Amino acid sequence: MELEEHYSQLLGINSPWEIYDVELKVDESRLDIWIEYMDDKGASPECGAACPRHDTRKERTWRHLDTMQFATYLHCNVPRVRCEKHDVKSIRVPWAEKNSRFTLLFEAFAIRVLNAARSVEEARKLLGLNWHQVDAIKARAVKRGLARRQATKIDCLGIDEKQFRSGHDSVSNLYDLTGGRVLDIVEGRTENDCKQLIEQALTPEQRAQVTAVALDMWQAYANAVSQALPKADIVHDRFHISQHLNDAVDSVRRAENKALNKIGDNRLKGSRYCWLANEENIDKKRAEQFDVLKTSDLKVARAWAIKEMFRGFWDYRYAG
Ligand SMILES: [Zn+2]
Repeated sequence: MELEEHYSQLLGINSPWEIYDVELKVDESRLDIWIEYMDDKGASPECGAACPRHDTRKERTWRHLDTMQFATYLHCNVPRVRCEKHDVKSIRVPWAEKNSRFTLLFEAFAIRVLNAARSVEEARKLLGLNWHQVDAIKARAVKRGLARRQATKIDCLGIDEKQFRSGHDSVSNLYDLTGGRVLDIVEGRTENDCKQLIEQALTPEQRAQVTAVALDMWQAYANAVSQALPKADIVHDRFHISQHLNDAVDSVRRAENKALNKIGDNRLKGSRYCWLANEENIDKKRAEQFDVLKTSDLKVARAWAIKEMFRGFWDYRYAG
């Protein structure tokens, strides 16, 4: 097997691309590979039409994965073709993205090093790159990833809000619940913020395929979902509903405790935990006192009974 053919196989380079020279500089720890395009026709980079070759651009260089300890570079004079619709354009090379000075295999490797390293600086040094190069490789990887994501079906979404800076600022998050991943984040939690979130994260085709969205009971989100995802069901999850029921019981308890205190009745003092906990988690000593409270004619006892009754809802299967 000739050396050139050996490298063609290693690089995955096929006709009409051909390796015509390989040079190893041992003292510089460097391997250079020259590639030539051997056809007088080529595909338009815009429309893919077969076009006649027009001319050849001056040599370009791409950094490739190292060969053993040798830094490896590809060189090629990329031909230009003349397309009837798109005029004179350089053809695409199979080993790299447009405008990149690195091969796709090198970029994929760089992303793995970035993931594995403790910091970008550490990865940058291992790869022998500057900050600008690392940044460009990351930006292209994100673009490729987003393009792949846009081609997938996403059927169940989740939207929620996170507050920060002591609740002065909030962001809205969009999740792919089946895939277990964050899709996108926007600042704010208004109807428009939420609409923007859905529209920037998903293509119109993807939006049409969403079947359900889990939401907190926040009207602005519900409005945004019914506009941006009219075919999707809105679902309120168990956690959020329990939270709302507990909040309601607690506000009844607080108001009643205040009123009772005024007439010297402190029955509800120290009972907060019992009203909010799952009954099976209440210890024996407290349970005896709580048995009396929960069967009394207090308002909070009624509110608590409604909350408890709702727990059966999750296992209820009768459509009527
Ligand atoms: Zn074209």
